[in-house]
Amino acid sequence: MITRAQLAITLSKLEDFTNPDPSKEQYMTDSETASQMLWGAYMQGDIDDKIVADLGSGTGVLGLGALLLGAKWVMMVEVDPKALEAARRNYEKLKAQFGLGNNITFMNLDISAYSKDVDTVIQNPPFGVQNEHADRPFLIKAMEIAKAVYSLHKIESQGFIEKLAGEKGFHLTHTWRYSLPLKKTMEFHTRRIERVAVGCFRLERD
Ligand code: SAH
Repeated sequence: MITRAQLAITLSKLEDFTNPDPSKEQYMTDSETASQMLWGAYMQGDIDDKIVADLGSGTGVLGLGALLLGAKWVMMVEVDPKALEAARRNYEKLKAQFGLGNNITFMNLDISAYSKDVDTVIQNPPFGVQNEHADRPFLIKAMEIAKAVYSLHKIESQGFIEKLAGEKGFHLTHTWRYSLPLKKTMEFHTRRIERVAVGCFRLERD
């Protein structure tokens, strides 16, 4: 079984976005944050032997991490074909290194078109900096298809998320705070690394 430290190192070697699209808010979750989210979900019993979906899977760090932690099947759902191809390359590398199985599906889809039920969603959706509440359809979709949801957002979104969860028959069980490093990949940022206060919110069906 992989340790949390090994998971963080392994995820740190994955391929990132090459030409991130600002309108899609394409940021790869840094390996430290990703490994802590994944480890936390694993400890809650939401990964091992579970069907897991990564909505807006990007280059794959969350879904592939779930696979490394023993998920029964992983669904990668991503609208950008280039990002999905990068995720597939990351998977092939890990498969060679760890002897992973073929228990993963790559879907080039808008999340609104995805409908298969899973046990757990783990996601880092667009925060809605570009389009206000761009994270809302991700939260709604996640609560439609899963019993447990791990979703990363700006920390100030907590109130909005708790309210939305209540409307959908879910409740907030955990908030894990992180300081997310955002690389300066978009021209409108001035500092090279910016840190954003975020929370991984765990929602559970009532
Ligand atoms: N989950 C990855 C990527 C986060 S960035 C990680 O943690 O590193 C958010 C991702 O959501 C981007 O890859 C973007 O292309 C994707 N995305 C944005 N809107 C989407 C939509 N409507 N349907 C599917 N994917 C979407």
